[in-house]
Parts: sequence; C-alpha cells; structure tokens
Amino acid sequence: MQFNYMCSDCGRNYTIDPKLTVCPVCGEQQAPDQPLRGVLDVELSGNAEKDFDVFDLLPVPRHFFPPIPVGNTPLWQPENLRRSLGFENLYIKDDGLNPTGSLKDRASFLVSAFAAQHGINEIVLASSGNAGSSMAGVAAAAGQQVTLFLPATAPAAKLVQALQYGATVHRVNGPYDDAYDLSLEYTNRFGGMNRSTAYNPMTLEGKKTVSLEIFQQLGGVPDYLFVASGDGCILSGVYKGFQDLRQLGLIDKFPTVIAVQAAGSDALYRAFQTGQFEARPTRTVADSICVNVPRNGWQALKRLQTHNGRVITVSDEEIIAAQARLSRTTGLFSEPAGAAAFAGFLKLSAELAPAAGIVILATGNGLKDSTAAVRGIAVPAETIKSLSDITKGT
Ligand SMILES: *Cc1c(COP(=O)(O)O)cnc(C)c1O
Repeated sequence: MQFNYMCSDCGRNYTIDPKLTVCPVCGEQQAPDQPLRGVLDVELSGNAEKDFDVFDLLPVPRHFFPPIPVGNTPLWQPENLRRSLGFENLYIKDDGLNPTGSLKDRASFLVSAFAAQHGINEIVLASSGNAGSSMAGVAAAAGQQVTLFLPATAPAAKLVQALQYGATVHRVNGPYDDAYDLSLEYTNRFGGMNRSTAYNPMTLEGKKTVSLEIFQQLGGVPDYLFVASGDGCILSGVYKGFQDLRQLGLIDKFPTVIAVQAAGSDALYRAFQTGQFEARPTRTVADSICVNVPRNGWQALKRLQTHNGRVITVSDEEIIAAQARLSRTTGLFSEPAGAAAFAGFLKLSAELAPAAGIVILATGNGLKDSTAAVRGIAVPAETIKSLSDITKGT
C-alpha cells in the first residue's frame, strides 16, 4: 500500500513528512477564529481483500505502534433497546472500551507510531480532556513524553488520567481554543510533534479505523451512523474510513452519517445552513463536544455535503435523559458526548424505517465525568443503619 498527503482544500499532493501539518499554500488563507485551512488527508493506493488487516491500511508500519490494545471495540446488539424502540438492527459501537476510555485512542495510537517512526520523543497537544488523557496513556506504553495544554474546566477524571499516565500538564485559564493556540506556539518554539486535532493529519487518519471495524463487524455498512461532533475530526475520520473502503472497491455506498451537536455548541450545525463559521460562546454538559471553532469544520462540512449527511442538535436535557436511558436499558454507561449521539437517534427515530441498519457511536466512557451523569439520577439523600429504615415497594 502506498500513502501520501492530499490537501482537502486544493487537492495538491505532498509526501508524508512530520514537519508538514497543513497545506503550505492553503494555510496562508488562515483567518482568526475560523476552522483550519489546508487540512491534509492521507491518501492510499493499492489493493485489499474484504478480510484486510486494519494495520495494512495505515500509513505507518505496524512495528512502530506501541504495545497497547487500541481499537477492536465491541459492536453491541442491545436487545432491550431494540425491542422497546422497535429497531431490530440497532447497534452500538462502544469506543468507551478503548484503553483510556475514548475513541481518541485511535488517533493517539497512530500519532505515537508516526512520532516513533521519525524519532520524535515529545508529543504536544491541546485537549478538552479526552485527547490529552488518551495521548498520555498511549505515549506511556510507547515510552514517549507528553506535554498537554488543558483548560482548567476539564472534568477532574480526565486531568487525573493524564497525570496518572505521566504527562506534563499545563492547566489553561481559558477555553479549549486558547489551549489550542498555546500548543501551537509551544511546538513552534520548542519543537516536538503537535498532536492537536486536525492540525496533525494522523489524528483524522487514525480515527478512520472505527469505520473499518464497523464494516468488518457488520459485513457491510449500516444505513445510518450517528456521531457526536465538536471539532468535526471524528466525523471526518469516520467518512475517511468509508472513503478508503470505496476506493478499495469493498463498498459502493456510504451510510447516511448524522452529526449530532449540543444545542449550546452548534457551530457545525449553523455552518451547514449558512456555509459560514461564526465563533460564539459555547456551553454544554457534553464537554467533549464543546468548541467555539470546529478545527476541522471546513472538511467536515464538505464531507457532509458531498455524502448527503445531516447535522442535528440536542439539548443538554435530552443528552442527560439519553445517557440515563442508555445505561438503564443496555448496561453501557457513556459520557455525555457519546450519549449525545444516542439522543440524536432518539430525536430522529420517528423518521427512520424500523428495519434500517443503525449504528450509534458511543465515543467515551461515562466514568470520565460522573458529575455530569448525576444530573440524570437521584442520589439517595438519607443514609440508613438498618433494614427497618427501608420501605420496600409492595
Ligand atoms: C472528542 C470527542 C468527541 C468529538 O469529536 P470531534 O472530533 O471533536 O468532533 C465526541 N465524543 C467524545 C467522547 C470525544 O472525546
């Protein structure tokens, strides 16, 4: 298999090189408070059979990947939920079962291998939480150093995770967007490989593996795929996987991808209507999809338009209710961002055929942010000393 970079804006081709982040030509058009210009895609050429090995479709040789079991996450068949909702072909792809508890491990895994291939030992990034804890964990397995810029508002578990894995953490007094700018300033000044999402082409490329796995697990592609979206990198990665499959002649149609955003952080949703990105203050319980400027916005928008995707929004109340419902009917505890994808499905379900093949991507583990989940449950106010304090329902 051969690999090269192609600019997602102008289509120019480049040789893969860790010093190249965005397209040098289109990067010139970068405006402040706008999504990245000149995001680079990895293009592959070659042949593969239906039972391909996922590693063979990645642009770094297998022996550079660290010894940590990323990916191969289960595709749940939630019987109770299928019955109660009347969708017999509903599946949940549980990426909360990755080593650090989120889909971000797929990106970190490839970035770590890419850095190892080029003899780079320090990896630098900004993160709202999961990308940072993920990079820290994967780099620990590789023996690499991580420098992380994390907004001070990140959920405690994600901060603790990153520190636990040994990352150097700088807590930023400002939103994720500020952390992002600081990470770029840091690598410009001190070097290292920047893993910030979309800015490092391997982040998007690594995330494509989720689509490759869904294809192999289902023996084909679903009709609908629900994906929570913030920066739009998972969304683009998901599309990239199907694009590779089509190029290899293994599929002829894409699923309808539905990007789900929080109503309080809906830049992609608005851009889908207007064609423009406008930064606005954001607020949502789903911290992992809370971004003012979707870094991979242009590419996500283009892919949604090309492949007849949709963007919908869900309120925080819908997210919290969906999170509790998912946990209670399936045993899968997802963090709010992952539950947002399920909330999006619930919102759209009346429009979908009951026999449709549907995959909901659960992107992160619920234990990463238990404070958010508390909004959807009732913690007993009283403590007890003996069973006579309990009223057992009749
Ligand atoms: C990062 C993340 C998302 C959103 O991914 P984007 O690439 O920012 O759109 C969704 N869910 C979880 C759990 C995440 O960590």
